Amino acid sequence: MINFKPGNNWTLFLDRDGVLNHQKEGSYIFSWDEFIFYDGVIQSMPVLAKYFKHIFIVTNQRGVGKGLMTEKDLHHIHRNMQKSIELAGGRIDGIYYCTELEAESTCRKPNTGMALKAKEEHPDIDFSQSIMVGNSFSDMEFGRNIGAATVFLTTTKPVVDNNDNRMDAVYKSLADFADAPTPSSLIFSLI
Ligand SMILES: [Mg+2]
Repeated sequence: MINFKPGNNWTLFLDRDGVLNHQKEGSYIFSWDEFIFYDGVIQSMPVLAKYFKHIFIVTNQRGVGKGLMTEKDLHHIHRNMQKSIELAGGRIDGIYYCTELEAESTCRKPNTGMALKAKEEHPDIDFSQSIMVGNSFSDMEFGRNIGAATVFLTTTKPVVDNNDNRMDAVYKSLADFADAPTPSSLIFSLI
């Protein structure tokens, strides 16, 4: 059970591809043209902005490390993404990405480098008052590794094992997750 009240010092960590936007199976989003928000995501961000003190993106972007796109391409996508969210009344307080190829790289999820960097820049982040939302198991492990609660979105794959203790809650989409809270007390149900 994830239990928290609005107004607390809660932080939301969001994976990007498969959470905010349609991912390209086995490939990367190379340009803003290819970045397509899931239905309801833009409208969900202002809702989430009310509930969370911080909202961060944490995203593995090996496409840069592989030389398939540049960091400049990535920044261009992120500027547009952020602008679209802000125009709709939402907010993203920081975007952390890892372009490295090696699984052992400290910044690559499920390793915790991006969360530690966020905490360095925002020392009031409390990982025990944080939620990681993602569509892959490495996102769930990243959440567990920092001691956060975890929410799995079944946007790209179903939950295979209902007793999988890497996830605290499961939703179909970010829009569903954002609808789940009630203003007085946010209680997310177990799987
Ligand atoms: Mg993803």
